[in-house]
Amino acid sequence: MKDSKNISTRLAHLGSEPISYHGAVNMPVHRASTFVFKTFEEFKDCFNAEYRYGREATPTSRAFERTITGMHNGGYGSLSTSSGLAAIIAVLMSFSKNNSHILVPDNLYGFARGFCDETLTNLGVEIEYYDPMIGADIEKLVKKNTSLIYLESPGSLTYEVQDLPAFVKVAKKHNIITAIDNSWATPINLQPFELDIDISIMSATKYISGHSDAMLGVCTCAKQEHYELVQSTIRQLGNCAGSEELYLALRGLRTLSLRMEQHTKSGLELANWLSTRDEVNKVLHPALPSCKGHEFWKRDFKGASGVFAITLKETDETKIAKMLDSMEIFKMGFSWGGYESLFFPEQPHASRTAKNWDEPGFLMRVHSGLEDIDDLKEDIKRGFARL
Ligand SMILES: *Cc1c(COP(=O)(O)O)cnc(C)c1O
Repeated sequence: MKDSKNISTRLAHLGSEPISYHGAVNMPVHRASTFVFKTFEEFKDCFNAEYRYGREATPTSRAFERTITGMHNGGYGSLSTSSGLAAIIAVLMSFSKNNSHILVPDNLYGFARGFCDETLTNLGVEIEYYDPMIGADIEKLVKKNTSLIYLESPGSLTYEVQDLPAFVKVAKKHNIITAIDNSWATPINLQPFELDIDISIMSATKYISGHSDAMLGVCTCAKQEHYELVQSTIRQLGNCAGSEELYLALRGLRTLSLRMEQHTKSGLELANWLSTRDEVNKVLHPALPSCKGHEFWKRDFKGASGVFAITLKETDETKIAKMLDSMEIFKMGFSWGGYESLFFPEQPHASRTAKNWDEPGFLMRVHSGLEDIDDLKEDIKRGFARL
C-alpha cells in the first residue's frame, strides 16, 4: 500500500495477502518454530531465507511489522517483541555501551526506569534523568559520550508534552540517536519520522491491540543500520512475540483509527468536564492548556487519545478508597488502551529525581474507554459523592 493513502485506508489493508491464503482476508496465525528447507543448497543459504526459525520471523510477525511500518510516514522497518517494555529495553541496550551516557526523561515509563536504574547502571551505563520540559537546554547535559536521547511524549502519569524538535536539533548537532515512546499518540496522532526522530517505540499492548488481551511491543527504525542493530539485540536477548498476540494486534490495527477517534472524543469530553468539577485540582491532558507543553501538542500532534490524569483535591486515602472501591464502570488496574475505562491511582513523587513533583493533590490516571460518555460521567459523579 502506497504511503500517499490516508492512514485509516492503510490500516485496513497493510500486511494482508489474501492471495497467499486461499483468498482469506486475514493473515492466519502461523504457529511455527521450524521451517524446513527443500535442499542442502537452500539450507546452506538459510541466512538469506525469509523464514528460518520461528523466534526470528513468521509470516504473521512480518505482516504485523509491515503494517506498523506502513502506518509511519517514512521508516525502514519494524521489529516486534514480547512486550512494550521488551521493545524499550532492546532500543536502550542497542545504543548504550559500558561508559556511555544516556539522557532519559524524568517521567519515563516506570518499568523502563527500573531497567535503567538497575540493569543498565550495573552494566556501567551512565543514566541521567532530565526534566521533560528542558527543551533546547538539553544541550547543557550533552557529554562527549552521550549516545542516546530518549523521549516519551506525553510522559507517563503526568502527561508533559516535550518540545520534540528542540531535542532533535541538539541530537543532530552532536550526532546522538533519538528514540521516542509513542504509545500514547500512535502514528495516527504523531509521526516521529516527520520530526526526524530516529526510532519510534510502542507498547502494542495498549491501543494497537486495544482489547486488553495481549502483551506485545514494537519498534520502528527510520534507518536500515539502526534496524539491523536493534534486530540483532532482540535476537541476542532471545526475545520474540507470540503468534497469537501478533494476530490479535493485527486484528486490532484494522479498527485502530475508529477506536482512537472515539477514545479521543470521550477523553476530551471527560477532561473538559472534570476541569469544571470542584473535587478536581488540575486536569493533565495534553489537549488542555492546564497541561505542561500543551503548545507543543498543538504544534506537533494531529490528535490525542483517551488517557490523561487528574489531581484530586482530596488526599485522605480512606475517602479516596470510598470513591474507588464502589465504581461501577471505571475499574482500577494497570495498562490502558483497551475498550474499557480504567483508573490508575499512582503517585509520581517517588519516581522523580530531576525535578520534584510538586503539584498538590492525589494523582489519578484516567483511561476513557468506549462506554457511553454520559454513563462514564454518572459513574464519576457518584464516585465524587462518596469522596
Ligand atoms: C504500558 C507502557 C509501556 C510498557 O508496555 P508493556 O506492553 O506493558 O510492556 C511502555 N510505555 C508506556 C508509555 C506504557 O504506558
